[in-house]
Amino acid sequence: MSELSKTLEFDIVICGAGPAGATCALTLGQSGLKVALLEKSSFPRDKVCGDALAAYVPLVLNSIRPEYAEAFTRFDERMIVDSVRFVAPNEKHIDIKFPKQGSISTRFKFDNFLFSLVKTLPDIRIFENTTVHNITPESDHIVIDAGKDLRLKTKLLIGCDGAQGVVSRKLTNTTVNRNHYSAAVRGYYENVKDIPPSTFEIHLLPEVLPSYLWIFPLPGNRANVGIGQVSRLLSRTKINLRETLQRTIQEAPSLKDRFKDARLMGDIEGYGLPLGSRKVTMSGPRFMLCGDAASLIDPLTGEGIGQAMVSGRNAGRQAMLCFKENNFSASFMKQYDKGVYDKFWKTHYAHYLGQKIIGNRPWVANTAINMALKNTLLEKAMKRLFL
Ligand SMILES: Cc1cc2nc3c(=O)[nH]c(=O)nc-3n(C[C@H](O)[C@H](O)[C@H](O)COP(=O)(O)OP(=O)(O)OC[C@H]3O[C@@H](n4cnc5c(N)ncnc54)[C@H](O)[C@@H]3O)c2cc1C
Repeated sequence: MSELSKTLEFDIVICGAGPAGATCALTLGQSGLKVALLEKSSFPRDKVCGDALAAYVPLVLNSIRPEYAEAFTRFDERMIVDSVRFVAPNEKHIDIKFPKQGSISTRFKFDNFLFSLVKTLPDIRIFENTTVHNITPESDHIVIDAGKDLRLKTKLLIGCDGAQGVVSRKLTNTTVNRNHYSAAVRGYYENVKDIPPSTFEIHLLPEVLPSYLWIFPLPGNRANVGIGQVSRLLSRTKINLRETLQRTIQEAPSLKDRFKDARLMGDIEGYGLPLGSRKVTMSGPRFMLCGDAASLIDPLTGEGIGQAMVSGRNAGRQAMLCFKENNFSASFMKQYDKGVYDKFWKTHYAHYLGQKIIGNRPWVANTAINMALKNTLLEKAMKRLFL
């Protein structure tokens, strides 16, 4: 019988090798446990994103192994950013310095960087081009069907398979809720003029408030340019995000000259963002969910990579505890949920309130930026709200 036609047994199966899954695998790399990492694509692969990496990406890597943070320091396929420019609907702008540097790197490069670290770990068995189709919980293990020839049996399953992933669909009752979901599109443009150095640019456009249009600089005179909107407002306004992005960069007075000679590289692509403004089922008997699979995207800024990495690391740590205590019960897993929500819930909830207050009211954004320009106290408040 070939290996692929029998059932393979693992202590832990991680489904999905994006930032959540790769970080989870890095955490488990030296645990002595038998771990499989299943990924439907093969690396390097793209993922639709704004490509902004929060300052705590290297901190998470450092907390797993300082060598990983050092490798990130040497990873040069990224731009380092130290400030954000908010452009109000009335086109006034304010620049705010970050307390810590962030970076921007295409997901094609960044996810491959993380994945290449995982590939150095002999105890992690990687299956690329392998899609999980079905999941069957049994009394003391979970069975995973990944195509007609591959079946795995695991004591613990960690779902890192992104928005509307199969693990959450099979093991929880969570469904998409338009109040807690966003949609966004992005394109890569070459030769955009006057990009302020080391700066994330956020344009608060009336059509898509409380979301925004972003211009994030990339190495090689390129920029990731995109636009998003909360699903509850999109279903009301019915705007087409691709068209709005293209029309805005061609017509908006502050952008049209800057994009006159710019060239779109490839297509404008879109994807969903499950927002962390509601608590969802994040774990249960013999399973945990991380990153987008656990709805952990910041409801105002749209950032989710840092959250994916933190939750991936925490799930890896919780998994080691489960094996140490031989406890895979739903109640034992709750420690994992608590750790993740202790880290993110307060900020996500405050950002959700910010998102509601700004709503689709341009005057709120204009007033906030006008006042911030005059008043450093308000600038500090904006820093607390957005950064
Ligand atoms: C347009 C847009 C812009 C964004 N901008 C930013 C930003 O600038 N900064 C930021 O921090 N966040 C941003 N986000 C959010 C960010 O992309 C996500 O939060 C992040 O990718 C979550 O990582 P993850 O590992 O949980 O999931 P993913 O990155 O989605 O990875 C999931 C992995 O699982 C694999 N997979 C899926 N299903 C299966 C299956 N059945 N079997 C096997 N493998 C499977 C996929 O191929 C993928 O590799 C943006 C999102 C969008 C849509």
